[in-house]
Amino acid sequence: MERAGIAILGSTGSIGRQTFDVCSYLGERISALTTNSNVELLVSQALRCRPRYVAAYEAEAGRRLRRELEGSGIEVGPPGDEGLTLAACGEDTRRVMVAVSGSVGLVPTLAAIDAGKEIALANKETLVCGGSIVMRRVRERGTLLIPVDSEHSAIHECLSRRPEDMQKIILTGSGGPFRGWTRGETERVTPQMAVKHPNWSMGAKISVDSATMMNKGLELIEAMHLFSVRAEDIEIVVHPESIVHSAVQFRDGSILAQLGPADMRVPIQYAVTWPRRLPSQARPISLPELGKLTFLPPDLENTPCLALAIDCAKRGGTAPAVLSAANEAAVAAFLSGRIGYNEIYDCVAAAVEGIGFTGEPTLGELLEADEAGRRFVRERIS
Ligand code: NDP
Ligand code: MG
Repeated sequence: MERAGIAILGSTGSIGRQTFDVCSYLGERISALTTNSNVELLVSQALRCRPRYVAAYEAEAGRRLRRELEGSGIEVGPPGDEGLTLAACGEDTRRVMVAVSGSVGLVPTLAAIDAGKEIALANKETLVCGGSIVMRRVRERGTLLIPVDSEHSAIHECLSRRPEDMQKIILTGSGGPFRGWTRGETERVTPQMAVKHPNWSMGAKISVDSATMMNKGLELIEAMHLFSVRAEDIEIVVHPESIVHSAVQFRDGSILAQLGPADMRVPIQYAVTWPRRLPSQARPISLPELGKLTFLPPDLENTPCLALAIDCAKRGGTAPAVLSAANEAAVAAFLSGRIGYNEIYDCVAAAVEGIGFTGEPTLGELLEADEAGRRFVRERIS
């Protein structure tokens, strides 16, 4: 068999395409690729890197993929969760990059952990929904799990020496394109305005989350699971330049931070090559060129999504799963023009308020809470 490689779940997305690029640059073998429905790009990626296995989540896309790759020798898997799971668990896969968007990443991530794979996790919704179960399984199996989200990649590095001496995590965020705007002013924000982030180029859903600052709330929950800390141990700091990707403060008051360009290829490459840092295609930063950096407290009054997420983080149980799924549905409705920007918060808050709470949920109960959050928002909008 060929040397074990990397499976990229969601290879046609923003993180997936950059992972493909990083692997090509490093000469890493790619063993499997998946998409939701972008058959054209998946086929062109597959013909370039010749993975053993590919799959599309949508059934019709899967049929087209099969026709396009007929005779290529590349296996085309079934649609749905099964296709993703088989992509994650192939014998010729060593590490799985989970770069799908949304909680659809949860089931294949758990399967990959069970199959003994190393995990590079970009998909934060997986941890927000099922973090307690994922991390328990990671500990039980002794799995290597490296976060790809730039903040968590930074914290992972800063904590690598003396985690027991940590006092708190400092989670930075740019504040998004509407930093300083009031709720009255954000009323008129359109999808085109919301998907343009000042520093990062990302998929549509996470760009909207960055604008509402829901993203920072999801990241706080992600950090709680990854680093076994409480919400109270995480300080959110607004840092408009996106150079300090996050930091850790230790008991003696000193702070270790990780700085770098706002280029996801750096944390992606860290998750591929860890524990090493190898030469990268990203443009290095220069401190004299930057001159100065700015840090501010968050404005919770005008970013109610962040306040709501912090509240759900403290409540725990099924609250983060409902929050995240309701937010996915609300952001999709906003992007397709069915609700206004400020209604994203209204929908998610109503779902969190209206759906029953379970304190110590099983995986089944978490998946039900996720489904209930989505359904609540869809019914409210229609
Ligand atoms: P994109 O929307 O750009 O890409 C998502 C990928 O997942 C695409 O390949 C998409 O396929 C696939 N996909 C979407 N829905 C499904 C589904 N239901 N089943 C199977 N596959 C699906 O997202 P991003 O790359 O921006 O983000 C991916 C994840 O990484 C998110 O969880 C995000 O929060 C996280 N992240 C992203 C960052 C960024 O810079 N972009 C930074 C930090 C974290 P198709 O192409 O057909 O739509
Ligand atoms: Mg991030």
